[in-house]
Amino acid sequence: MGTKGTTIVGMDVKELLGLLYKAFSDEWLAYYQYWIGSKVVRGPNKEAVIAELTLHATEELNHSVLLTTRIIQLGGTPPLAPAEWMKLTNCGYEAPTDPFVKNVLEQNIKGEQCAITVYNKLLGITKDKDPVTYNIVLTILQQEVEHEEDLQALLEDFELMMRRK
Ligand code: FE
Ligand code: FE
Ligand code: MG
Repeated sequence: MGTKGTTIVGMDVKELLGLLYKAFSDEWLAYYQYWIGSKVVRGPNKEAVIAELTLHATEELNHSVLLTTRIIQLGGTPPLAPAEWMKLTNCGYEAPTDPFVKNVLEQNIKGEQCAITVYNKLLGITKDKDPVTYNIVLTILQQEVEHEEDLQALLEDFELMMRRK
């Protein structure tokens, strides 16, 4: 733990760590939901959907890396067992039991919308309190906004394709 780096945090560090553990759990679940979705997805325009889901999976994994770095800087310990993710998650996990493209896209859009709400809240909580965490959260939020738009564009393509038949 960086002692000086921690003293500049103008909020309860334990409380902040609790929020970061929850976000960290969301990211691992989002990673897996995208990753497994990219493997099982079926239906029209599958190749484009697979490419986007695969890329998003790696980006979610990177979010967990950013959060872990900050958690450790603050003297915390990230959840050490996957079982903890389901207990801590804000956004949950939706198994792609129906692998049709429309369903997989809708499930992931829902996840992104939840992530946007969570990070926007975290941005408000850390604003003027912890600039380092704020900056990480802002970076992640920007990418979640991009993810939502990417998926909605793919869903729109799917719907346009269906109308032509
Ligand atoms: Fe993420
Ligand atoms: Fe995302
Ligand atoms: Mg994308």
